[in-house]
Amino acid sequence: MGRVKIGMDISMKGQETIVEKLERERVLSRSDYITLLQNRDEALAKELSGRAVNLREQYYGKDVYIRGLIEFTNYCKNDCFYCGIRASNSKVRRYRLSSEEILACCKRGYALGFRTFVLQGGEDPYFGEDEISRLVEAIKREHPDCAVTLSVGEHPRAVYRRWFEAGADRYLLRHETADDAHYRMLHPVSCSPENRKRCLWDLKEIGYQVGCGFMVGSPRQTEEYLAEDLLFLHKLQPEMVGIGPFIPQYDTPFGGEPAGSIGLTLFLLGIIRIMLPDVLLPATTALNTLDSRGMEKGMLAGANVCMPNLTPDRVRGQYALYEGKDGVKGGDAGGRGAVWESEARIAGGDAEECTPVPGGEVRAESVRKESAATGQREALGALRRRMEAIGYRVVTDRGDCKRKKTDPI
Ligand code: SF4
Repeated sequence: MGRVKIGMDISMKGQETIVEKLERERVLSRSDYITLLQNRDEALAKELSGRAVNLREQYYGKDVYIRGLIEFTNYCKNDCFYCGIRASNSKVRRYRLSSEEILACCKRGYALGFRTFVLQGGEDPYFGEDEISRLVEAIKREHPDCAVTLSVGEHPRAVYRRWFEAGADRYLLRHETADDAHYRMLHPVSCSPENRKRCLWDLKEIGYQVGCGFMVGSPRQTEEYLAEDLLFLHKLQPEMVGIGPFIPQYDTPFGGEPAGSIGLTLFLLGIIRIMLPDVLLPATTALNTLDSRGMEKGMLAGANVCMPNLTPDRVRGQYALYEGKDGVKGGDAGGRGAVWESEARIAGGDAEECTPVPGGEVRAESVRKESAATGQREALGALRRRMEAIGYRVVTDRGDCKRKKTDPI
């Protein structure tokens, strides 16, 4: 790594630290990234988070953007080895939300102050090009001041373009790992790293605000692979990056693997904020799942987004990507904190009748509207207070990336 020193080594006074170099150049060499990761300690983590928080505040102040997550289908044709809703997991009770239910989630979220809705699902052929286009158009018609984010996997470029023209603003597609060999360890042969990257470049070129990301501590992951991930982020220049610790799901081939590290996730959040100072960086659900203060820790490492779940309570337990997913089973498990409970209550108060759709096993259920609305307001209030306790504020805002947008091609 040449003459760059690690951390504040007094004997090398006057010489640039590796973190200073990262801040100056916004990228490191592969070997410098590996060195940085291998030398992770408390002092280095503190230096990183201090600089990361400064940069975050330069671009976004104290604002925390909230995204209303709507997990509208847990059907998926793919079989990723780490994923709880993979096609071959026969233990999953599958569901699809109807268009009316999805719109009702948005309506409820809008009243609470959400100005971004994230439609997330497995790669479910039932929701094809036309269906998603209609959904996006309907949401934009009812909430023209809101952003719509899609997170529905890999599709042809023409399909992405159609959804963009329908009004979708953003697209989340984690690259999972930038190393091709590692990608093949995590996915069946039907999924290719080339196609995943092709999708991300297509989305970028079409004009979406693009989010990629990866699991921290996924099986077989090495510091070399993480260095590749960071180099890929520099190359792609995504507007959003979602990273969270890997958490095993028992009914998958990786069910017996250890979970990823909170400390390493926070360390990487700091690196990413310094590399991409204007990026939208969530403190992810997985972080909250492993640590009851995960969201606060994420914010204090450089994050500026959180994604409360607006999925109706009666089905959200079935979107179990990994074990013990935050907000899935209510506020009683795993010592989770108020944010976890808030999210559960935000989603819990759905007042709409549920409409079964082909292939779904959704059951009708209703909750008194008045008490539901009160509970949801209280939940969001708790979330706001929690952010205020660390000096931040939840805002009612689309929360677009502050980077100047390049022209779509
Ligand atoms: S990770 Fe995504 S694409 Fe893979 S099985 Fe799960 S939902 Fe499907």
